[in-house]
Amino acid sequence: MPHLQQTLEQLRAALGDAAVVTGAAINQRHYSDWTGHAPACPAAVLLPRRTEDVAAALRICNAARQTIVPQGGMTGLAGGAVPRETDIALSLERMHGIEEIDPAAAAISVWAGTTLQEIQHAALDAGFLFPLDLGARGSCQIGGNIATNAGGNAVIRYGMTRDLVLGLEVVLADGRVLNLLNKMIKNNCGYDLKQCFIGSEGTLGVITRAILKLAPLPGETTTLLCALPDYASAVSLLRRVQRSVGTPQAYELMWQDFFCLGVSWLESPVAPMSLDYPLYVLLESAAARERLEQALEDAINAGEVVDAVLASSQAQAHALWKIREATGEFPLRMTPLNFDVSLPIGQIGDFAELCRQRLEQRWPGNRSVYFGHIGDRNLHLTVDCDSLPQPAPVFEIEELVYTAVGELGGSVSAEHGIGLLKRDFLHHSVSHEARQAMQQLKDCYDPNGILNPGKILG
Ligand SMILES: Cc1cc2nc3c(=O)[nH]c(=O)nc-3n(C[C@H](O)[C@H](O)[C@H](O)COP(=O)(O)OP(=O)(O)OC[C@H]3O[C@@H](n4cnc5c(N)ncnc54)[C@H](O)[C@@H]3O)c2cc1C
Repeated sequence: MPHLQQTLEQLRAALGDAAVVTGAAINQRHYSDWTGHAPACPAAVLLPRRTEDVAAALRICNAARQTIVPQGGMTGLAGGAVPRETDIALSLERMHGIEEIDPAAAAISVWAGTTLQEIQHAALDAGFLFPLDLGARGSCQIGGNIATNAGGNAVIRYGMTRDLVLGLEVVLADGRVLNLLNKMIKNNCGYDLKQCFIGSEGTLGVITRAILKLAPLPGETTTLLCALPDYASAVSLLRRVQRSVGTPQAYELMWQDFFCLGVSWLESPVAPMSLDYPLYVLLESAAARERLEQALEDAINAGEVVDAVLASSQAQAHALWKIREATGEFPLRMTPLNFDVSLPIGQIGDFAELCRQRLEQRWPGNRSVYFGHIGDRNLHLTVDCDSLPQPAPVFEIEELVYTAVGELGGSVSAEHGIGLLKRDFLHHSVSHEARQAMQQLKDCYDPNGILNPGKILG
């Protein structure tokens, strides 16, 4: 492949030999992301150390029409960082570290390859909270978090990654460096270009640096598990809590099937309350405990809550969270087909019912469980493929679920992005005209289509 060899030679000359890895020297972690989807050894892996390296690499690849796949921590759940054998992977792992913490601005400046956990620790050391948090925190990189507009555990209180980004540095496909770094909240100087790159999954530019918002440290939190009579009560309880004690730190809804499964998988499977209720909510609040107790009493009197456990120690709070964290056991105990969708909050109960009915009608006796960050309008649903005829009809199930999402005006991707895995279902949530406008944006920033081809739009 003389064309590729020539490009690799130019890349070695520009970045240095050690920054261009090929063949057997390529670590297998560059083959696929957390999904393990379609693993492939890329033609090379680039390991730039500076923005100028990224700019030089993109300039060379753009001139050669060589396709590039940006890679962060490879924890993505949509196949966005998965390369083909003909692609060159560009890993940000060596562009790593905290540049500055500015306490006056409550802002932190970081390189894109810094792990989320490192940023959380640096913020804590400086007396702040960096509120983005997700299970992959030890491996995912902030560049990947920004490129996927990651959600996670604290969205209800602090928003998505987009809400935490003050400024970015981005390298365009032709090697131009856009300095969009900024520490201000108010900054209305024309189009806010950084927004295009947040959630663009490496298809519009490579994120090299970021300035992020920090939050004050929350005080002590209280954990509360409530049993609810119906879905409408989940929404009215959330509104009551927001009115009386402020937005909670977490508001996690579990349908009965999920709750029973979570309890049965505990080390000592003792339920904190009866398993007979249709819905359970796990709520965490930074409000004073007495005020939360008052709100709970009011909710019980109003019939929104039928049973409750207020954690009296950290250990008890931890034990309640263990039920919700049963999702970590899914890959070990079943063959899960996971969905990450969002819907208007008032529709989520109907959606869960509709999906359950349609799945049961099509594959009687199948197992599906429902849970989610309801305060964020985000529902996760998992179908156990072991409970279906083999080979499991994955595409048919996806089509069934995403069709229902489209019918109720929801989104086929709440927080994981589109990547490769949801590309064929994007039309259920995004109109033809809007997809055309997305393609125009792509053509504008990357006219030769070298950046992460085939992702999001195909
Ligand atoms: C256990 C676990 C729990 C998770 N929990 C959550 C959760 O609660 N919420 C949630 O939203 N996600 C969650 N995820 C998914 C995943 O962690 C996030 O999508 C994360 O933001 C991906 O970051 P990454 O660095 O691993 O990116 P990668 O997987 O490496 O890449 C993801 C996408 O971003 C692009 N990209 C990466 N870096 C850059 C860059 N510097 N510039 C431009 N493009 C780039 C890639 O091309 C790809 O399209 C979870 C994953 C795991 C494994």
